[in-house]
Amino acid sequence: MIILKIGGSILTNKDSKTSEVDASTLKRIASEIKASMDNSAKQLVIVHGAGSFGHPPAKKHRIGEEFDKSQYPQKRLGFCEIQNEVKKLNTFVCEAFIRQGLPVIALPASSFITATKKRITDGNLDLFKNYLTRGFIPVIYGDVVLDDELEFCVISGDQLIQYLARNLSPDRVILATDVDGVYDKNPKTHGDAVFFDKFTSLEDLDTLEGTTNIDVTGGMVGKIKELLYLADLGIESKIINAEVNDNIFKVLENRQVKGTIISRGN
Ligand code: ADP
Repeated sequence: MIILKIGGSILTNKDSKTSEVDASTLKRIASEIKASMDNSAKQLVIVHGAGSFGHPPAKKHRIGEEFDKSQYPQKRLGFCEIQNEVKKLNTFVCEAFIRQGLPVIALPASSFITATKKRITDGNLDLFKNYLTRGFIPVIYGDVVLDDELEFCVISGDQLIQYLARNLSPDRVILATDVDGVYDKNPKTHGDAVFFDKFTSLEDLDTLEGTTNIDVTGGMVGKIKELLYLADLGIESKIINAEVNDNIFKVLENRQVKGTIISRGN
């Protein structure tokens, strides 16, 4: 089984205030996945980010922050708005995949996962497994969920990948984003950033800045933290660049692709 995450940065323009899908990239990625599924049988789980659909409304409604009881109805409506926005992106994603002949089934986190202080504490994956054994491709995405302490919170695609990998024991965990992998600092703003083939500790980062400032879920640092939790459990993951044609196909085929492996070993 492979768990593949497609970053929101690939699917949407995160800096944009409007929600727009990058339709041609989405189509290309769907066809790369289809080509690999046709080439070799495998179970596949897809996680995708929320990108420009989720981050602006999550920021506007400050979901995940403590609030006064009097604000509850307003917060609840904000929660609904975010859930609906990320569902729209998921609809675009699933539509593109189904057009390519991929049997995707959306399983939104907001309908079966709950958290405590922004960390997933409950989420029964039996249905997930049931779909997988019947040859479906479950799709889950960055979403809002109920939180036992904070009432509501945002759960990133990166936390979801960590939760799923921990509980489904996949053979491989792959994250596709819009850079080649992890550098010692943001390669988009620092021309001299040094690339890591293997990343083992947050201390390897030169600067601990976030990513796009719009990202409410932690950006690259948040992503690496989740993957280091997995590495602690002995589960390796790899970050690759999905903007490079054929990278998703190749990585699914277990062929050599430039990227960063996150692990605790040397
Ligand atoms: P996604 O939406 O694909 O999950 P994010 O936008 O959250 O990805 O994170 C990817 C972005 O993180 C890159 O576009 C890059 O600009 C930024 N970034 C910040 N610091 C780093 C770093 N040290 N190494 C690589 N990318 C970084």
